[in-house]
Amino acid sequence: MTEISHDLLQPEMPPTRWGDPAHAGPLPDGVRDLVGLVFPLSDTPAAADVAVPAPQLAPDLVAGLRAVVGEEHVVLDDAVRRQRTRGKSTPDLLRQRAGDLSDAPDVVVRPGDHDDVQAVLDFAQQHRVVVVPFGGGTAVTGGLAPDREGFAGVVSLDLGRMRSLVALDPVSSTATLGPGLRGPEAEALLAEHGLMLGHFPQSFEFATIGGFAATRSSGQSSAGYGRFDAMVVGLRAATPKGEVRLGGTSPSNASGPDLRELFLGSEGAFGVITEVTVRVRPLPEVKEYEGWRWPSFAAGADAMRALAQGDLMPTVLRLSDENETAINLARPDAIGGEGSAGGGGCLMIVGYEGTTAAVAAKKAAVTAALTDLGGTPLGAEPGQAWVAGRFNAPYLRDSLLDVGVLVETLETVTFWSNRERLYAAVKAALEGALGDGTMVLCHISHVYATGCSLYFTVAAAGGEQPLERWLKAKAAANDAIVASGASITHHHAVGTDHRGWLTPEIGEAGVAVLRAVKRELDPAGILNPGVLIP
Ligand SMILES: Cc1cc2nc3c(=O)[nH]c(=O)nc-3n(C[C@H](O)[C@H](O)[C@H](O)COP(=O)(O)OP(=O)(O)OC[C@H]3O[C@@H](n4cnc5c(N)ncnc54)[C@H](O)[C@@H]3O)c2cc1C
Repeated sequence: MTEISHDLLQPEMPPTRWGDPAHAGPLPDGVRDLVGLVFPLSDTPAAADVAVPAPQLAPDLVAGLRAVVGEEHVVLDDAVRRQRTRGKSTPDLLRQRAGDLSDAPDVVVRPGDHDDVQAVLDFAQQHRVVVVPFGGGTAVTGGLAPDREGFAGVVSLDLGRMRSLVALDPVSSTATLGPGLRGPEAEALLAEHGLMLGHFPQSFEFATIGGFAATRSSGQSSAGYGRFDAMVVGLRAATPKGEVRLGGTSPSNASGPDLRELFLGSEGAFGVITEVTVRVRPLPEVKEYEGWRWPSFAAGADAMRALAQGDLMPTVLRLSDENETAINLARPDAIGGEGSAGGGGCLMIVGYEGTTAAVAAKKAAVTAALTDLGGTPLGAEPGQAWVAGRFNAPYLRDSLLDVGVLVETLETVTFWSNRERLYAAVKAALEGALGDGTMVLCHISHVYATGCSLYFTVAAAGGEQPLERWLKAKAAANDAIVASGASITHHHAVGTDHRGWLTPEIGEAGVAVLRAVKRELDPAGILNPGVLIP
């Protein structure tokens, strides 16, 4: 087992903002001026002197938890509990900024290994205490804000001590990782062996291996490396009914339905994932990224479909619509600068990673196909700019919230034949709900042979009640997604925010199956009550 070294540990995120405080900053003057032309600006600092509700858990239960994991790993401190209150969606940030900490856990418990987790669950089940598994805290659909009604209290089960490379099988190319490892930490441990995972969501720097599995996350290199659930070979979990080990015996099998899938996307409602075995690959020799311009979103989307259906997938493949291209959102560090696609149209980012020979061969084939399809090559500069800024957009959201602009993202996925209808319906729903001047930007973020994911970024005047305005707009977008026959989420998961829209997608029988699994594994219903299951 290899522990992560201290100099690799990521900093804690502030409760009201995204990311590393050292990287945060106000809106650059040029961007502020530009945004001020579109939206009324008003400085809206977060509330000062926020009171965290006093812990509700009875002292004997706190003492019981201390006996299970050790005195120093049961934390009642206000600042720590505030930090583990909800996730990082815009509604989460707005509530934190307004000083609403009504979802604060009573206590933060930090288990050191699987047995600790199991012991906490046994104790919590016996005393009807809610347990919320907490990885990186980057959830954006309410998965960290369970329903506490009728329970003795809420434990935030912080998996941050379970941060090691548990096992490595270089012959089979598999690695077993602790659930609390954040993206860069997992990659650093694997890199010591010349290996990588290749999962790079925008939240990469702070989200964890357990969180990726529990939400069926998908990263920016999914075209080449696949979504996270496709990387998972096996997993171990602790449940109130005991230990569960799924997969991990073979690359694939016919031993009945694949029960790994029950835990991938289970959002802490069925158990706590304590180890994840993933398939790994050699570190790439070369990385090359470039830009292409398309005359329209439809033309670029058709080109993506042709690549996917022609087995010509690069490692990264993304396409901004006309609005997103025009304001340069693919390059958050240069918002408002000249659009990367120069003469307008739509910017596509194409990236290749692998051995020198494989990249050369793939690039030649993809370049020929994109040229035939009518794309204009823009060279390496837009690709490199995208790579340099790929994790920076969330900092911009904070700076815009600071000046009273409402910004949030949402995503969905459908088949190619339904893409245009879905795009139009979601856009219309958001513009209708938020009114004149709303900016709705979109990119195709993940591509399959059969369809693609649409990722929307919305900016609107915040007004007096930004939270209420957004919740109304989000509900309208969710209704539009369901009415269009698309999925309520491609990679952000269900949480509490999408729960009301899950039944049309999986049906009453599907919901009954989820409830039955929950009853079996968590009969007292202590794990993340109200999350995932309608
Ligand atoms: C700015 C930003 C950008 C994002 N970009 C992407 C993106 O590109 N792709 C993407 O897929 N997602 C993205 N997300 C969403 C989020 O990062 C993912 O859902 C991520 O997988 C959550 O991981 P986490 O470790 O932060 O989990 P947390 O937020 O801590 O938890 C998420 C859910 O999983 C449960 N959980 C966590 N760990 C475990 C465990 N070990 N066992 C059981 N349950 C557990 C929690 O209880 C909760 O319900 C983004 C979020 C933000 C704020």
